[in-house]
Amino acid sequence: MGSDRFCLSCGVPLEADDIALYMKLISRMDRQFVCLDCLGSRLNCERQTLEKLIVYYRQSGRCVLFR
Ligand SMILES: [Zn+2]
Repeated sequence: MGSDRFCLSCGVPLEADDIALYMKLISRMDRQFVCLDCLGSRLNCERQTLEKLIVYYRQSGRCVLFR
């Protein structure tokens, strides 16, 4: 369990939202995840953009990953 909670790329501890967004954008099947910074560089977008996406999904209330 523990190793699931750290970024695969840089090793920082992950928030539940980081994992939820990863699942949303990349894959729900993955067992290892990356932090927002690493996800941003993988997707070629700003960390801020990802943070706004988290807020968006959370406020929309439609996604089961964000509750
Ligand atoms: Zn990282």
